[in-house]
Order: sequence, then structure tokens, then C-alpha cells
Amino acid sequence: MNDCELVLDARAQLGEGAIWDAGRQVLYWVDITGQKLHEFNPATRANRTWEMGQLIGTVVARRSGGVMVAVYDGFAAFNLDTAKLEIIADPEADLPDTRFNDGKCDPAGRFWAGTMSTKGVPGAGSLYVLDADHSVRRMVTGVGTSNGIVWSLDQRTMYYIDTKLQRVDAFDYDLATGNIGNRRVAVPIPADQGRPDGMTLDAEGMIWVAHWEGWRVTRWNPVTAELLATIKVPVARVTSCAFGGPQLDTLYITTARPAADVPGQPQAGGLFAVQLGVRGLPAFEYAG
Ligand code: ZN
Repeated sequence: MNDCELVLDARAQLGEGAIWDAGRQVLYWVDITGQKLHEFNPATRANRTWEMGQLIGTVVARRSGGVMVAVYDGFAAFNLDTAKLEIIADPEADLPDTRFNDGKCDPAGRFWAGTMSTKGVPGAGSLYVLDADHSVRRMVTGVGTSNGIVWSLDQRTMYYIDTKLQRVDAFDYDLATGNIGNRRVAVPIPADQGRPDGMTLDAEGMIWVAHWEGWRVTRWNPVTAELLATIKVPVARVTSCAFGGPQLDTLYITTARPAADVPGQPQAGGLFAVQLGVRGLPAFEYAG
């Protein structure tokens, strides 16, 4: 196993949503329950923080500048210079006991993000897509905890994690319309490795999965379900991962703190990094 190193002793409550902005050479990430958006600059090791004033599930870069976020109040644009939050669409305005969780952009620049119950209600979440014209479609219903989402190199398959299902699923994906179908199991995650959370894709088409309560990030072949590599993390709650750095060969990993102060995890909530012999891909940006 490779080991990762702590690059930011952030002590986040629920670090999540790591994504590299190649244009600005920074890593965005969020603290969901800490209600913060972060921007980490590896060159200076400086970390900028914006208080969101509400739960924030994920962040993606926007082609026209700034970032898009999925917050408690819905899909929103966020201006990093003025800190202005502009809600664009709130598909669950009538559901006060759900919140947005993880999400990413697809190769066509649509912003996908899913929801989950804040009260532990099974299957109360959905996966939504925000199109470039700001319209929203509900794509998957009955979701437990909506998490990692990536698209295959040939842009014909979408991989998606509903954490509660303990696996990575595959869907046929249509680039032109964003439509999905033919859901099937891609990679079952063994229960003794914790629960699958965030996910990213590398330049060889393999997936990297963060393991909640699993002390690791793993690399899998999503076609054969073969386990290819394991990165050990000195924190139980490993939540998301993303390739970054000038060569896209550094895997950044977010973590969360335990519910109670469990001894033996002084770095919980920190941001970690590991240099790898494989590269990631530039993240897709929101087109709207
Ligand atoms: Zn997550």
C-alpha cells in the first residue's frame, strides 16, 4: 500500500467534494456540516475559506468564471471575489429534511448532484442534473446517500455510488441528451472495507473510490471489478478524492472527523495527498 501525507491540518467536520481547477491550479473542497467552501493552493499551502451560511454538498468550476455549488437551498452560482451566492434551481424546496450531497459535471458540462435525507430516511434522496440552460431533471429516485459520480473515457458509461447500496453502479449514458439507462452493478465494495463515498477517474479509465469508515482509497477496474491498488489513510472517514497538481499526478483526499472524539485519529478532517504513477484528467466544468 502507498501512504498519503497530510497537506492541510484542516480539522474539517465533514470534508468532501475535492476537485482540481486546472485553470487556477487550486483544489476546491467543502466542509458539508461545517458549511464552508475551501480553496487549497498547493504551491503556497494557503487555504482560503468562505462561510456559506448553509450546508454545502459539493463544488465544481464554471466555464464562465467562479464556481457552482449544490447547497441546502439548491443548485447555485458562487462568485469567489464577491462571495455572492445566487440560487439557480431548488428541486427539493418542498422537502425540508433532505440536503444536497456529492456531485460533479459530465463531459457535456451538465452539473449532476444528488440528495439525501438529513433524518436517516431510507431512499429519500434523488440524483438531479442541472442543464446548461438552468433547467433541472430528476434522473434517479429512491437514493439513500448520493455520492461519487464519474463518466468513462469513451463517454458512454456513467458510474455512480449510492453509498447505502455498498457498490458502484454503471448506467448507459448519452452524451448528447444526458439521458441514462440500463443500470447495473459495476463494482461491489466489500463491507469490511467501509462504505463507498466519493470517486474519481484516472487517465487509464480506472476509478478511485474513497471509503467512509474504511481508512483507505482504492483503485478499481470498473469493467472487470478487479481491485488494482489501495492507498492507506490514517483517518477512518475517507470521503472524496481528486487528481490535481501541475501534472495531475497527485491524488488529493478529503476526510471527516468522527462523531465523538475517538482517540488515534489526530489528523481526522485533514486534507491528504499522495503522488502516483498514474494521472488524472481535467475536471469537467459547468457550461451554463
Ligand atoms: Zn460523499
